[in-house]
Amino acid sequence: MLNIVIFGAPGSGKGTQSERMAERFGLNHISTGDVLRGEIRNDTQLGRTAKGFIDQGQLIPDKLMIDILANVLDGFKDNKGVIFDGFPRTVIQAEELKKMLAARGQEVSVMLDLNVREEELMKRLIKRGRDSGRADDNEETIKKRLLVYHTQTSPLIEWYKNEGKYVHIKGHGNPEEITEQIVHAVGAALTVNY
Ligand code: ATP
Ligand code: MG
Repeated sequence: MLNIVIFGAPGSGKGTQSERMAERFGLNHISTGDVLRGEIRNDTQLGRTAKGFIDQGQLIPDKLMIDILANVLDGFKDNKGVIFDGFPRTVIQAEELKKMLAARGQEVSVMLDLNVREEELMKRLIKRGRDSGRADDNEETIKKRLLVYHTQTSPLIEWYKNEGKYVHIKGHGNPEEITEQIVHAVGAALTVNY
């Protein structure tokens, strides 16, 4: 079972790399952002709640997010492993994920931290906002999201270092090269841990 946490600031390329890795290794992919945007599109109760937070650049409350994740996880059949994209985003979520996986006799195999400079993040997100119309990809909300990343999410770097799962990935350059770096890093991490 290969459980990969793809980590990084907004715009670091988590979604792009997750899709490539899911294909390559035949893994399931959970993007919590995509799940929430799906709920918003379908105008569900959950979607309406989520929209309030997302439009403000804030995180969805942990309890709610953890329930959503558990539901998606339970829905997977023939599970060879999962790429967690956008989760965990807080220490509480990381602790909960650890428990959730342990209850299924599993664990996180590796945490990949996609590192990208802040001005590059800003550039990518503004472009994505223009191209896709994603409501939270506007300059004001991006700044709030980056702040939330630094205060609430980046402590997970230390947390996963303590778990012995942390791997730094250079997130600059073309997506193909980054995927190759990731494949290499995952292989190396598995050799060390198992
Ligand atoms: P990327 O560009 O790398 O895909 P992102 O931060 O731009 O990352 P998403 O991961 O799609 O975008 O998340 C969008 C929003 O959904 C977040 O700003 C947050 O409000 C909410 N969200 C997603 N995952 C979580 C989570 N684990 N906990 C709380 N809120 C979340
Ligand atoms: Mg994403």
